[in-house]
Amino acid sequence: MHLLNADLHCHSICSDGSLAPAALAQRAHDGGVELWSLTDHDEIGGQAEAQAAAAALGMAYVTGVEISVTFAGETVHILGFGFDPHEPRLVQGLSRLRAGRTARAQGMGESLARVGIHGAYEGATAYAANPELVSRTHFARFLVDQGHCSNVHEVFTRYLKEGKPGFVPHRWAGLGEALDWVHGAGGVTAIAHPARYRFTPTEEYALFSEFQAHGGQGVEVTCGSHFPDEVTRYADMALEFGLLASRGSDFHAPGESRVPLGSLPDLPGKVTPLWSLWADRLSLPAPASAA
Ligand code: AMP
Ligand code: MN
Ligand code: MN
Ligand code: MN
Repeated sequence: MHLLNADLHCHSICSDGSLAPAALAQRAHDGGVELWSLTDHDEIGGQAEAQAAAAALGMAYVTGVEISVTFAGETVHILGFGFDPHEPRLVQGLSRLRAGRTARAQGMGESLARVGIHGAYEGATAYAANPELVSRTHFARFLVDQGHCSNVHEVFTRYLKEGKPGFVPHRWAGLGEALDWVHGAGGVTAIAHPARYRFTPTEEYALFSEFQAHGGQGVEVTCGSHFPDEVTRYADMALEFGLLASRGSDFHAPGESRVPLGSLPDLPGKVTPLWSLWADRLSLPAPASAA
């Protein structure tokens, strides 16, 4: 039976991706995506272009965002979908969140200067099409092009991860606050790439419990950074917590991203897809019921 090819996670030049929203829409469509969402970090400025490009291609679209949250001292990413992109509290909350990035990026530049890498703040800023959204990815691209490392991943390992010279601690949104922004704008939320957080089992349980208690409904089960055993583990967690499952490549840039748009395996059969929520509105095929 045909399962819907949904890809609900990727980034454009409005955050740390390298392609414009319309170019991503075309790649998603070429990759066989039937339901798409652009989920820029802390930014929804690309939604109108993404939505219009998807419509022109006849591809179903839901609005999206990936919000940076601090939970138990760790950065957690919360995906939001299907919200009204003009809702004032969401718009203002994200705007405030982005504002914190500039001072952080300046601090990263100063930290890197102390290990002999000069001009990184200016360099990274020049790589960011959105001046409000300078991310570690932009520093990584600058350091690769300056010859300090051979690829973006190596820059993170040597310079940008916690404990490395370019890392600057930062306080992002609170979990409840981020969930309220999205839910208050009529959207739903999902925990992004849960296998990527360095939580103890107790902390992870707390994240899922608090997320659910605040009305969170989904978890990314199949995604570009999950290994097959992690897909199985979080499919089980989705069932345990009564959460719907999401699927997304987390595509950022050709040559940087391992997984092209639309090419991930289907969700495991035992979970209920997040997009079953939108079956009526998007006139999607009815979801396969769990056996
Ligand atoms: P920021 O929001 O500025 O802290 O940047 C986070 C972004 O850095 C993530 O969304 C990823 O795109 C990227 N990133 C994080 N860790 C790695 C890694 N190990 N290798 C490559 N990119 C990474
Ligand atoms: Mn990113
Ligand atoms: Mn993420
Ligand atoms: Mn992402």
